[in-house]
Amino acid sequence: MSVYSINHIMQVISNYINGHLVQPLSGKYLDNYNPATGEIYSHIPDSDESDVENAYKAANEAFKSWSQMPSEQRFKIINKIAELIDSKNEELAIAESIDQGKPVWLAKNEISRAAQNFRFYATAAMQFASESHNIDGHAVNYTIKAPIGVVGCISPWNLPLYLFSWKIAPALATGNCVVAKPSEITPMTAFMLSEICNEAGLPDGVLNIVHGLGPKVGNAIVSHPGIKAISFTGGTATGRHIASVAAPMFKKLSLELGGKNPNIIFADCDFDKAVKTSVSSSFLNQGEICLCGSRIYIEKSIYEKFKIAFLKEVEKQIVGNPLDDNTKIGAIVSNQHFEKVLGHIKIAVEEGGKILCGGKAVNPASNPGGWFIEPTVIENLNAECRTNQEEIFGPVVTLTPFDSEEEVIQMANGTVYGLACTIWTENLGKAHRTAASVNAGIIWINCWLLRDLRTPFGGMNQSGVGREGGYNAMNFFTEMKNVCIKI
Ligand code: NAD
Repeated sequence: MSVYSINHIMQVISNYINGHLVQPLSGKYLDNYNPATGEIYSHIPDSDESDVENAYKAANEAFKSWSQMPSEQRFKIINKIAELIDSKNEELAIAESIDQGKPVWLAKNEISRAAQNFRFYATAAMQFASESHNIDGHAVNYTIKAPIGVVGCISPWNLPLYLFSWKIAPALATGNCVVAKPSEITPMTAFMLSEICNEAGLPDGVLNIVHGLGPKVGNAIVSHPGIKAISFTGGTATGRHIASVAAPMFKKLSLELGGKNPNIIFADCDFDKAVKTSVSSSFLNQGEICLCGSRIYIEKSIYEKFKIAFLKEVEKQIVGNPLDDNTKIGAIVSNQHFEKVLGHIKIAVEEGGKILCGGKAVNPASNPGGWFIEPTVIENLNAECRTNQEEIFGPVVTLTPFDSEEEVIQMANGTVYGLACTIWTENLGKAHRTAASVNAGIIWINCWLLRDLRTPFGGMNQSGVGREGGYNAMNFFTEMKNVCIKI
């Protein structure tokens, strides 16, 4: 087990425009905090629309040659990015851990997955064929799937490089040029990606990364008339705003938004697996994963037994220094989010919730100034209360008993969201019935976070619009043109 150390030199992040690492035109910078110490450790460009304009011009200029480059050559460059990410796994993981607060062992896993995003889409682009339809031998249709041009990718802070690459990789692989913005709260690995892209030989202007605030840089990307498609992952309120700007401009829009995911435990489940996996799905990455289950519904006959076993497992979750490999739960990403999560715990108590464990901020001896919260388990709340309706996005879960399949499906479907759901049962019929009845874009049966990049990924209702993943993402980043020829 290792404890990694921090380089104390203040780092200054640059924008990446037209292949160059550049300062923001305003010359202004924002502070970037290490959540595990509460200290400023780097400065990030406070960019504005003039930087976005330069990024757009570079992308637009690069589009013709990038989109016309033989796919084999594009494949080699994108694959090289994947190789370089893999070769720098530890360096990137430590940077991600310092920036975001997640344990470094988890960051290593996510960085590998970011490399896999590039590798997967580089390969998928080589297989991306179009259909042909014959009309009774007297006409033939074929479909051209053409890159859109310049597209915008905006990502959140919870899985920084993974989600950034989840968008950029399919956009580039299908021949688009990109203006991208990572979260201002976790910009570091996106900055490191700029250097990797140059090392991989990505032509100038193909990918441009503009750092800064959402309402300035993000808004400039969304409202830019030349940027034809927006792929956004983040909160539902931000997604709603983005839709209101992009829809009247008739932009293509992919929205991956918030969730309040149910975890359904039937009495006939594989008990030990259900308990252990539910602890991970509640607290991995401090509960800051859009796919985390935050409402655990347990069939009444095993409620007490499950509660005792679950709490026993939660006790083993060591909260502390993200750079220590023994740590299970790291720091909450920002002071603002830390206060928000604590505020939600207070609301839960006011609503009559009984805190079974956690419920407070912690100060680990190694990191006294950091933003840490104990894993928190709450019971005695009804399905309609704010705690069970609003996304908390932290290490907080509720336990609720249920009597019947019908009742639990109603409770599971009783929020405005519809992102993910986990079902635990050994009864095949019940598993399929429940999966078909739950309103969620992603359903796991007897597992959680088992991902296959070919599958559709996204949410229903206020959890999003559209699907990414596999050919869904490639279809999103291309414009289809049907050509009909009379024979
Ligand atoms: P956020 O909406 O605050 O920010 C996301 C990104 O949007 C950031 O880069 C931000 O700078 C930018 N942004 C903010 N205001 C903007 C504006 N007016 N115009 C354009 N861009 C703007 O979200 P967050 O707090 O960074 O991330 C947490 C949220 O993301 C949670 O709700 C979580 O559920 C969601 N999320 C969803 C998925 C998914 O796949 N559905 C995955 C991860 C996170």
